Amino acid sequence: MEFLAGSLLELITQTSTNLPPDVRAAMGIAAANETPGTQSDQAFNIILSNIDMATDDEGPICQDTGMPTFIVRTPVGVNQIRIKKAIQEAVTEATRLGKLRPNSVDSITGKNSGNNLGPETPVMHFEQWEEDEIEVKLILKGGGCENKNIQYSVPCELDHLGRADRNLEGVRKCILHAVWQAQGQGCAPGVVGVCIGSDRSHGYELAKEQLFRTLDDVNPDPRLATLEAEIMQEANKIGVGAMGFGGKQSLVGCKIGAANRLPASYFVSVAYECWAYRRLGVRLDAATGAITKWLYRDPSRPVERMAHGEGFKLTGREIVLTPPLTEAQVRALKVGDVVLINGEMWTGRDEVHAYLMKNPPPVDLHGAVLYHCGPVMLKQGDRWVVKAAGPTTSMREEPYQGDIIRKYGMRAVVGKGGMGVKTLAALKEAGAVYLNAIGGAAQFYARTVERVLGVELMQLGIPEAMWHIRVKGFAAIVTMDANGHSLHANVEKATGEVLETLQKV
Ligand code: SF4
Repeated sequence: MEFLAGSLLELITQTSTNLPPDVRAAMGIAAANETPGTQSDQAFNIILSNIDMATDDEGPICQDTGMPTFIVRTPVGVNQIRIKKAIQEAVTEATRLGKLRPNSVDSITGKNSGNNLGPETPVMHFEQWEEDEIEVKLILKGGGCENKNIQYSVPCELDHLGRADRNLEGVRKCILHAVWQAQGQGCAPGVVGVCIGSDRSHGYELAKEQLFRTLDDVNPDPRLATLEAEIMQEANKIGVGAMGFGGKQSLVGCKIGAANRLPASYFVSVAYECWAYRRLGVRLDAATGAITKWLYRDPSRPVERMAHGEGFKLTGREIVLTPPLTEAQVRALKVGDVVLINGEMWTGRDEVHAYLMKNPPPVDLHGAVLYHCGPVMLKQGDRWVVKAAGPTTSMREEPYQGDIIRKYGMRAVVGKGGMGVKTLAALKEAGAVYLNAIGGAAQFYARTVERVLGVELMQLGIPEAMWHIRVKGFAAIVTMDANGHSLHANVEKATGEVLETLQKV
């Protein structure tokens, strides 16, 4: 097994940095179907460029490299304990090389292990099979989309869709609701893996397992194949659009499986996957551990370029913001404006917000831009270098953000997926804006970072620390302004109205 650790490291690296061809094809079609010049179209431009950049530089497509989940099948007689150790070694090395972000956090103390190892991380499932080779499949599903997973216990009442009964029509309603409730927070356009039946815990596992199918396969059960096709059509009428900006493309895949259930239970479990749909697999020689074949890849097809022309195009109408910002500057911004930030920003996400609720900030935040981001950072010599730096889901900070803006005077918050009414009220009162960056575009945004100027609160771990960065040409869209307008509220309302037209009986 001399090649095992190296093969697993290659699997992790490729999964994190190079999207498989079925996902590229689906994203290419979705982008081409979007209306040119819309905000969703701009989001697609950045996403497609980002996919190319990640492949070119072997950098993580998204800074959130998720919960590494390995599905391993071995011939009888192969030592699974050895494979488990090799996976742990490969995960540690991939983290050291910046292909994975340190994502394993002690749930009691909040301490990040720093190497992606810890109780139940990474996730590994083993089973035996009758073949001679070892098969290892890997999915890296990030926290933003994981938080939008949803489970329905049917019958139930659904917003805008009415009652969902215990039949395929009820399942249809649940899946459409799942796409709608995710809005942009799971980095749409997404893919849904669905399990009808089973129990609560296994139902979620089976829903995630559906994400190991290819996007272009056909469900062997004709009833489910019909339902998948119907969902694809209807979900793309709802109008969530890329990043929840409103648009034609909300979903690029729907994969449904069914499992037997208890007579009393009827669960519909939905695993919502973002556009950064990172899953690959390999076949390994059982004696040496060498890769004999890649799964989800076609060796005869070269890696397809995604961006067209120059990728994200500037129109000349962008508004340049150079922090620190004044109240007058931000009050002049309107929902829909595209901004380019040139200058200094601070990152801050869950732990920073918890810290700021109890302690004064370690730096002056008046006029500052706070970036909801947990970057991948590597130390090279005595300098920190950004390896991936896209936005994280802002909604998690909704309970705190308004108070922190009022107290410490930031003028802009950058994140993705939008925020709620509490933050909107604070933006209006204090004179600040919410800027939506493009979720998952970690390479695109990493390239806007000219320099890492420093770091505060490093005791919170790399993703949670407060990084001081200087950026140039950092593009984002004003989606919540200081006049009480929110694109997210508008899209949620409009899509809810469309959902009502899909109610049937
Ligand atoms: S693309 Fe969005 S949802 Fe997916 S892992 Fe990245 S930040 Fe999370």
